[in-house]
Amino acid sequence: MDWTVLKQIIDEHQTFLVTSHVRPDADALGSELGMRAILLALGKEVTIVNASAPPANLHFLNPDGHVLKLNENITRASVPKVDVIIVVDTSAWQQLGTMADVIQNATSKRVVIDHHVSSDDLGAIEFKDVSAAATGELIFEAAESLGVSFDAQTANALYAAIATDTGWFRFPSTGARTMRIAASLIELGAVPHNVYNLVHEQCSMARVRLSGRVLGRIQSEAEGRLVWIYADSADLSETGSVPSDTESLVNQCLTVSGSEAAFIAVELQTGQIKFSLRSRPPHDVAKLAEQFNGGGHKLASGATLQGPLKPALEKMLVAFRQMLQSSGGSPPQS
Ligand code: AMP
Repeated sequence: MDWTVLKQIIDEHQTFLVTSHVRPDADALGSELGMRAILLALGKEVTIVNASAPPANLHFLNPDGHVLKLNENITRASVPKVDVIIVVDTSAWQQLGTMADVIQNATSKRVVIDHHVSSDDLGAIEFKDVSAAATGELIFEAAESLGVSFDAQTANALYAAIATDTGWFRFPSTGARTMRIAASLIELGAVPHNVYNLVHEQCSMARVRLSGRVLGRIQSEAEGRLVWIYADSADLSETGSVPSDTESLVNQCLTVSGSEAAFIAVELQTGQIKFSLRSRPPHDVAKLAEQFNGGGHKLASGATLQGPLKPALEKMLVAFRQMLQSSGGSPPQS
């Protein structure tokens, strides 16, 4: 990636707004905080605003409240009019939620730094590398090229970004580049066991109960090649959990022997159904998600369908059956 154009944009402007996708994950938050650190080190003014708040297990990434939620920590009218808006970890209008409108109505220059395959034309100068395992990797490389180093807190946030987006360094996207950057972050003060503990070992009882209930009715079809689960509004309300408590449950489906693809459907309070889709090569769930105006990566993507749950599930099952039929795939391991 050639970062000279980014350097030029930063040099020529003073005020920046950094944003990312709805339901921000650690890669979104870590990348935003990393970008903030870069801009501050270069003497710029920066505000981070997202359409939604971080999930509870990621609050530790934002101890000083630098990441603001639109209409909660900052009103629409007080979002600063900035020279440049930097969108990290997404290039999809739908993924920006209520921030899409803020961006569309601003006259600011736009920059996108992202590693997702799916993309809309945001009218931005793009720094996009789909071979990067996480947007956090790109932010680290941008900082190196701009001559900026990170303090321990930001190093931990970027480590969380990369570790979570690579499934703790086990997804096929993990390469030597990922490990080198992770090592540099540890040298800067990231503490891997602390990050893991804070992300995954601070669960509420409600979250663990929800996973028991949802995984208890795990289903498979297409001779076990597709494994899927759902969480409806009763699952959430009766266990006292929230939609983000379903995060990572979909990955359990792929632990079933012979599984090649998986999804979870989560009924949101709005009545919409949020699907998280996963696959193993050669299946491409980003392409599948695009049928529903969603997107993401080949092996991990998402889409939101209109409710109710049952017909949305039917539509998704049809799409998965088609994908499995058309792209073949490896026979189940014995
Ligand atoms: P999830 O299963 O929701 O964690 O999403 C997996 C990946 O797909 C993440 O990298 C998301 O940013 C991306 N993704 C999820 N939903 C969408 C969508 N509607 N449009 C584009 N990308 C998405």
